[in-house]
Amino acid sequence: MRSIAIINQKGGVGKTTTAVNLSDGLARQGKRVALVDLDPQAHATLHLGIDPRSARNTTYHLLTGDAEFASMWRTVDNGLKVAAAHLDLAAAEVELAGVVGREAILRDKLAKVSGDLDYLIIDCPPSLGLLTLNALAAVEDVFLPLQPHFLALHGLSKLMQTVGLVASRLNHRLRMAGVVLCLYESGTRLANEVSGDVEEYFDHLRTEGPVWEHARLFSSRIRRNIRLAEAPSFGKSIFGYDKSSAGAQDYHALTSEVLSYYAGRALVDAPASLPP
Ligand code: ADP
Ligand code: MG
Repeated sequence: MRSIAIINQKGGVGKTTTAVNLSDGLARQGKRVALVDLDPQAHATLHLGIDPRSARNTTYHLLTGDAEFASMWRTVDNGLKVAAAHLDLAAAEVELAGVVGREAILRDKLAKVSGDLDYLIIDCPPSLGLLTLNALAAVEDVFLPLQPHFLALHGLSKLMQTVGLVASRLNHRLRMAGVVLCLYESGTRLANEVSGDVEEYFDHLRTEGPVWEHARLFSSRIRRNIRLAEAPSFGKSIFGYDKSSAGAQDYHALTSEVLSYYAGRALVDAPASLPP
């Protein structure tokens, strides 16, 4: 199983849109895919037309109770499995304070289902708290959506520092896969500048150790497209909502790029549990 955490401590940069549409894009390529909603706002859950209140078990129960993934999947079109979030997930951070090994709960539960999946994608909240830490401790790769914006790179070094710390202390196989530019306005000077800045940043970072060796700017750009903003209210991915839209083309291109990225990389198995 390949596993991806989609993180950025800023909101509104395209995390959820990327998590949902990349998951569905991969499922439509015949892959066995699961999407885990780790944001208490439950945007990914709602985007796929699932009512968080109707889910018997949610990621809150997964982190704070006995619930297991196998009993909580909600299956949507194309066999995409979803672990739904609910607003009560916001309380998990407080409830887990003082629990030993609280960063590794997700990783340990995921280990039990990894054989049933080809791809697992985690949509993270806009913060670097315990929920995002659980995601980073569990996965192989980090994807970072960025909106080209004059402050886009602001806060990036703090984020990279967090990824580096998790990689050295909690999850030795963690790798920064790279940046996906979202809400892209092609042809603008700003978009070109931010692309150049990110490339330069990673060119430098790649020399800093194994965590960064694959770090790249994905060449697929996700253009600003109104259909992507409309799709959530129809409870569908962009492929279900309007497959001829620019948004569907862009996420289709990203899906292909992600498939070839993994085709060239050996899978590193997750350790069964945390090192002592
Ligand atoms: P995040 O999860 O990082 O907070 P979202 O994916 O929810 O960000 O995106 C924020 C808002 O922007 C949402 O309303 C979403 O529908 C919209 N949006 C995301 N990507 C695009 C895009 N490429 N074009 C137009 N709207 C977008
Ligand atoms: Mg989101």
